[in-house]
Amino acid sequence: MLDIQKVRNDFPILNQTVNGKPLVYFDNAATSQKPQIVIDAISNYYSTINANIHRGVHTLSQLATDAYEVSRQTIQKHINAKHAHEVLFTAGTTHGVNLVANGFSALIKTGDEVMISAMEHHSNIVPWQMLCERTGAKLVVIPMNQHGELIMEEFERLLSEKTKIVSVNHISNSLGTINPIEHIIKKAHTAGAAVFIDGAQAAPHLKIDVQALDCDFYAFSGHKACGPTGSGILYGKEEWLEKLPPYQGGGEMIKEVTFEKTTYAGLPHKFEAGTPHIEGGIVLGTAIDYLNTIGLDNIAAYETELLHYGTEKLLEIEGLKIIGTAANKTSVISFNIGNIHPYDIGAIVDKMGIAVRTGHHCTQPVMNFFDIPGTVRASFAFYNTKEEIDALVQAVLKAQRMLG
Ligand code: PMP
Repeated sequence: MLDIQKVRNDFPILNQTVNGKPLVYFDNAATSQKPQIVIDAISNYYSTINANIHRGVHTLSQLATDAYEVSRQTIQKHINAKHAHEVLFTAGTTHGVNLVANGFSALIKTGDEVMISAMEHHSNIVPWQMLCERTGAKLVVIPMNQHGELIMEEFERLLSEKTKIVSVNHISNSLGTINPIEHIIKKAHTAGAAVFIDGAQAAPHLKIDVQALDCDFYAFSGHKACGPTGSGILYGKEEWLEKLPPYQGGGEMIKEVTFEKTTYAGLPHKFEAGTPHIEGGIVLGTAIDYLNTIGLDNIAAYETELLHYGTEKLLEIEGLKIIGTAANKTSVISFNIGNIHPYDIGAIVDKMGIAVRTGHHCTQPVMNFFDIPGTVRASFAFYNTKEEIDALVQAVLKAQRMLG
């Protein structure tokens, strides 16, 4: 059980008014708020041990390096990776997808297939499209049904020995669907394909066990999981990371450089060229520790309660339609009311202190599928309350009166 008031006290930003009303922050799928312990860790890093890592013999450099590597181990344990060197620090999910899609240029050829799904974020579409353009491979898309669920029979039908990699999200950011990734991973492996999981929306809500999942790659962004922006991780199985060429060249990723030839460093450094976001990497560990103190099981149970409450209350509004009605969903509610433009609803509820997202949520193909310009998206985190959902409902009713 969560002590919600205690949890809310951890987040200083929540305790303010916006446009003269108490802030209700329902844009958690875009980025989460940060607890004081994370804010303090950023300040502490710069106040005490700031130095470049993996280079200096001096004490601060060693302290910063140790903190960075301890954070890597924290994340390794958190996602149950076999080795710490299978956890690469990245700038976020987008970086992780690009790193792998770029590496696959060396591994696929004309006639091969890359499979994604109909509900991917643009960052899990465009890098694969670019890969296909470079190599002559074909992009294949797993379709979804009207609930926003992937059609597994179609997935199995599309899968073949031509499929070299399947890349799907664990949870859809615009629909909230939790995808059956265990099944997808098993089937893809049977066909001989690698599997990349975009975990951007899952990391803040669910326990992840990459060994139990048996995925080949798993990426998430720190900023959606109470950590700093510009931080994130890419998990890759050792054998895959050994096989992939480096993404960027530069300092730190080399063993030896001559003008004739460069040899590369081992994992994880081969993929971590240049001075990284040191504070981001360190503080991501703090954020993960914080989430584990709250407990991801507690978080998931409470957010499910919020999802059910919010769904029920919003559906009482006449003409409101929820986009994304999968049986297995996380705490994201995308909706529209009649022909009212989502942006207009968003702008009015903002005047009442309520932050929701409007638009296509970087999933234009999803909007095209449902034949809508966009949605209003309320996405709940474990620090939100039912009273805040009531405030949203009142604000949406007011917007409906004004616009309808
Ligand atoms: N995938 C999904 C499902 C997302 O929700 C997001 C962020 N909205 C991303 C990828 C991209 O994450 P980032 O912008 O942090 O790289």
